[in-house]
Amino acid sequence: MIYEVVIGVEVHAQLRTKSKLFCGCGTVFGLTANSQTCPLCLGLPGSLPVLNQAAVEMAVRAGLALNCTIAANNMFARKNYFYPDLPKGYQISQYEAPICEHGWIEIAVNESRRRVRIRRAHLEEDAGKSVHVAGTNGSRVDLNRAGTPLLEIVTEPDLRSSEEVVAYLKSLRDVLMYLEVCDGNMDEGSFRCEPNLSLRPLGQKEFGTKVELKNINSFKFVKDAIEYEIKRQTKVLSEGGTINQETRLWNLERGETVVMRSKEEAHDYRYFPDPDLVPLKLDKEWIDGCRKHVAELPVTRMRRFVSEFALSEYDAGVLTASKAVADYFEACVTLFNQPKTVSNWVMGELTRELNNSGTDASASPVAPERLVSLLQLVEQGTISLKVAREIFPEVYSSGKTPEQIVQEKGLIQVSDEVALDKIIGDVIEKNPTQVAQFKEGKQQVLGFLVGQVMKTSGGKANPGKVNELLKKKLG
Ligand code: ADP
Ligand code: MG
Ligand code: ZN
Repeated sequence: MIYEVVIGVEVHAQLRTKSKLFCGCGTVFGLTANSQTCPLCLGLPGSLPVLNQAAVEMAVRAGLALNCTIAANNMFARKNYFYPDLPKGYQISQYEAPICEHGWIEIAVNESRRRVRIRRAHLEEDAGKSVHVAGTNGSRVDLNRAGTPLLEIVTEPDLRSSEEVVAYLKSLRDVLMYLEVCDGNMDEGSFRCEPNLSLRPLGQKEFGTKVELKNINSFKFVKDAIEYEIKRQTKVLSEGGTINQETRLWNLERGETVVMRSKEEAHDYRYFPDPDLVPLKLDKEWIDGCRKHVAELPVTRMRRFVSEFALSEYDAGVLTASKAVADYFEACVTLFNQPKTVSNWVMGELTRELNNSGTDASASPVAPERLVSLLQLVEQGTISLKVAREIFPEVYSSGKTPEQIVQEKGLIQVSDEVALDKIIGDVIEKNPTQVAQFKEGKQQVLGFLVGQVMKTSGGKANPGKVNELLKKKLG
């Protein structure tokens, strides 16, 4: 029997608001436990929620970018369950009337592009965290995260492989980061994903029973967990078994998914409209106002880079994957109108240094102006391209300007004919065999001789000039 994989994904994206969804407490990650709390997010009786407008704006911006319909009327519901990190005994979420519905996002897998449908995106508050300190008894509860605004984004079951899921997650994360509504940090839990996965015999219309996967905090684990789960379900079904509807956790050490709980149904949560919050009405003008703040998105920007800067789709795709990198690239091109050269440097030398030091392009110690000043030194013939590449790590790490480094190290390119003549004369003298071969018509020997001159000059000779002078000398 051949099975088809069916996957739908739920993502919880933390919105980048300064304060929580229903109180004024801050949302900074990693502070002392319970230092960011108040009676409301501690769930004390008598406290009343007030909706954070910035969170609504961010949700609407994300919804518009994801081609969703924005609900003019939406409301908040209580999702009831008991857990130590949820002191109120319910989570405020949206159930019947989510803020965004019926959208789509484009993904690219193996050169082909297609749409994945977004079923809904709704606002909800995050829960706190249970903390287990090794060597101590019991668990502790940190409520700093309780009440932080989340946008839960749910796809239709449109995905068919782990590659598609990863492509979807990357596109979605790019969009949210571009819009500056989510910082996308997977280690800190700002972008959490839960794939739902089922199998069905190829050709069958009805979906099989799905399993929800949790505890996946990197793209690599998404792929590993899905591949594992496909194998597990295939085995169960092939042996005539049935899949239990359940939530399974990805266990990194064991490289397998492990049952966490059997899946609860919606009615288990006893959803009902939150009587403390009035229905939220958004008028058309206000939604249109949000539309103006929807930034140019990665795919659009990629297409513009191809047409405006004559870059390949591949290069444009790499440059626009991160907003910070794309901004950096454009800032350079404004100062130095050679897009292909800039693109090579940004994707090559700069990216290498940023990756090595774990730095985001927005915080690059080499600002666009400084990179451009290095490119101008090459352009003017002051230094060779080779020297420029060699000194870049120092430009990056020392805080010195390229000019300073070039001066200090005496790296100024030799274009002066008298100086070059002398080196060329020496090289000709030392390599009579190659010179004879060249004179017999073996053109490719010229490259060797140019190389010798470059070497003797310590890489400082201007290769164009060397070529020209050598040819002249050898007649
Ligand atoms: P639940 O109520 O169990 O959370 P939902 O209907 O809300 O289930 O769907 C949650 C996610 O699971 C959605 O992304 C949806 O596309 C996906 N999904 C639903 N049914 C299936 C299925 N049979 N196989 C794979 N994914 C599914
Ligand atoms: Mg669900
Ligand atoms: Zn609070």
